Amino acid sequence: MNRIRRSGRTPMAAARPALAAIFLAATACLGGAAAGQAAPESTPAQIRTLYASVRVPGLDQRRFTHDHYWSVVSPWLGGSVSSQVVGESAEGRDIRLLTFGSGPVNVLLWSQMHGDESTATMALADIVRFFHDRPDEPLAERIATGATIYMIPMLNPDGAERFRRRNAQGIDVNRDARVLQTPEGQLLKRIDDELHPDFGFNLHDQNAAVRVGRTDRGVAIALLAPAFDSARSVDAKRRRAEQVASVLITAMDPMVGGHIAKYDDAFNPRAFGDLIGKWGASTVLIESGGWADDPQKQYLREANFVGILSALDAIATGSYAQADPALYDSLAYNGRRVPDLLITGGTMAIPGLPTLQADLLVSYADPLTKEGGTLADIGDLGDVQAQDTLDVSGLYLIPMPEALDGHGGINTGAPARFIVAEDPEGQRVRFRFEGGPPKRGPAPDPLAPPLPQP
Ligand SMILES: [Zn+2]
Repeated sequence: MNRIRRSGRTPMAAARPALAAIFLAATACLGGAAAGQAAPESTPAQIRTLYASVRVPGLDQRRFTHDHYWSVVSPWLGGSVSSQVVGESAEGRDIRLLTFGSGPVNVLLWSQMHGDESTATMALADIVRFFHDRPDEPLAERIATGATIYMIPMLNPDGAERFRRRNAQGIDVNRDARVLQTPEGQLLKRIDDELHPDFGFNLHDQNAAVRVGRTDRGVAIALLAPAFDSARSVDAKRRRAEQVASVLITAMDPMVGGHIAKYDDAFNPRAFGDLIGKWGASTVLIESGGWADDPQKQYLREANFVGILSALDAIATGSYAQADPALYDSLAYNGRRVPDLLITGGTMAIPGLPTLQADLLVSYADPLTKEGGTLADIGDLGDVQAQDTLDVSGLYLIPMPEALDGHGGINTGAPARFIVAEDPEGQRVRFRFEGGPPKRGPAPDPLAPPLPQP
């Protein structure tokens, strides 16, 4: 089955005037906010209240396979949520399109076109369960009446299987929008051609080390109403995307206020978000970044749930047209990336070489779980700021054999693996740093008694 069934739904030719009518209605209400003109909408707090009862169990880890995902979501398919296989990945995994509602405004959401960016895929599961279990909830009714919601969770299941960005063919699907060589990219283009969505949601995750503008605050959510040309023009369609982004900011602010940034808005002629905007939809990019003590991104999953449902509500009722795009415009951009870990105060004791005092800068392969660290810098790093700092004053860092080069020396890029000891020979061990801090306890305490050795 490769065509999208659209029976019983308003054809787009008829839907466009209806959409225009919504804009007119919303415009007519401008300035009348105090009069309480618009359809009552759910507040972010009300949507959060719903969350606990519709959160899909079995997605507590952000790495999961295609099989696992669809097995935990399947109880909530059917009924008000229809599901169909619309294509398959390079390795033959099914890619599904889920549909809810029958309103005139078409909305297309797709997630995890980068295989290791799963936060919104989890949130879409929760949204699907909400649509399935609570179709009589006023929020769900408003969305179903005003819009038709199309969702493609996990567009890149082969990448998800490996928990990596690219697809099985080694292609970044989000740089394939122009030449359309991957099955996943071809599918997204075909769906876009068939549905002509009025609104698009391009759902990703970004590096957790990024700061908001010039501040020290980490970015929890980055938003973008992408440009559709190199001049970064703003037409009515992009303006609507900016208004939806402003709705998202208002909705997510109670959860992640101060930690929302704007994604780089340079036009990328190979990227889907930008081209789907160019092809006709008002598109918003949502990037889930990092949040303190949330390595599995469960808090940001909930923030996505609240934000996306608020945005769908505003789109379905047309109330987004009252949102002020300046709220989005005034966001600070994604700023610098703060290095992951600074280890200060230690004395490096490389077997056979003179000892020396040296700070170490560690970059994790996975900043969220703090694993897979490599040495980004070694030496006097007294001016460097990092996400975390580990003070090992008075202790020795003895590289493990795998951290050494072929001649017994050390260099940047080496695995960050050390014995942290009270003596340069490593006899009195405090703890082992094996690509990241020891997982026992909340944080390594250099002054704590030695850990028993395995
Ligand atoms: Zn991405």
